[in-house]
Amino acid sequence: MLDVRGLKKVYEGSGRRVEAVRDLTFSVAAGELVCLVGPSGCGKTTLLKCVGGLLDPTAGEVFLAGRKVTGPPPGMAFVFQEYGRSLFPWMRVGENVELPLKQKDLSKARRRELVTDALASVGLADATGAYPWQLSGGMQQRVAIARALAYEPEVLLMDEPFAAVDAQTRADLEDLVRRLWRERGITILFVTHDIDEAVYLGERVIVLSASPTVVRERLTVDLPAERDQVRTRVAPRFAELRTHVYEQIQAAKREVAQPVKTDAPPPH
Ligand code: ADP
Ligand code: MG
Repeated sequence: MLDVRGLKKVYEGSGRRVEAVRDLTFSVAAGELVCLVGPSGCGKTTLLKCVGGLLDPTAGEVFLAGRKVTGPPPGMAFVFQEYGRSLFPWMRVGENVELPLKQKDLSKARRRELVTDALASVGLADATGAYPWQLSGGMQQRVAIARALAYEPEVLLMDEPFAAVDAQTRADLEDLVRRLWRERGITILFVTHDIDEAVYLGERVIVLSASPTVVRERLTVDLPAERDQVRTRVAPRFAELRTHVYEQIQAAKREVAQPVKTDAPPPH
């Protein structure tokens, strides 16, 4: 579904040159939920913006369902970290969710249906007429998720979407993402700096090195599909996986970034 090949991004301008992403190659199959985890500042947002066609890569290519991405493709939706800035304060919740649908060739009735359905999916059926600023941070982020869902994307890109909410809300939102993923069969690429979150959410985890980013490791998360905030997080296998990812990230900080490519889970 998503193919990233040799992606490189160097920011240049006003005499400064920042190599944010050095060389990234990975793919995400249709219906997968893949987490990318890497330290803050390692180039995760840069990478997602390139994948989403919001930034031109310096080298390399991104393909969505076999088509090369050269600008924001119609099949992708984005959920950003800063929910406060991603919703229009002068528009009601329902209007915010409906807005991107106006680019699609849909009847008004169908748009309404998608909006109602998406808001119900995130537990905000009653908030349609509210303004974003009347809602809590966690609710605003759920509106942003509903907006992405209503758009019926092939691929959903999520950039540290829960970094700014409290721990309890974050746990609820993580479970919401897993539920929506299982119910709707969407392909999700979820970026986070939080190792536990990556292991809890992902079916696979791609570990990134510090900037300039390369793929440090690819890991299959062999935890049961049915995850639970209490039981999963205290499972011995969860602890093994998170420790393994943590050590990879620490090692990557010490070494000159060298790509290590395996698809096997770490030994028990
Ligand atoms: P992350 O999302 O992993 O925290 P970013 O992709 O935001 O990392 O940033 C990676 C690196 O690229 C950082 O060193 C950052 O300062 C730099 N960077 C990000 N955006 C720009 C930009 N527009 N111009 C110049 N440098 C940038
Ligand atoms: Mg970022």
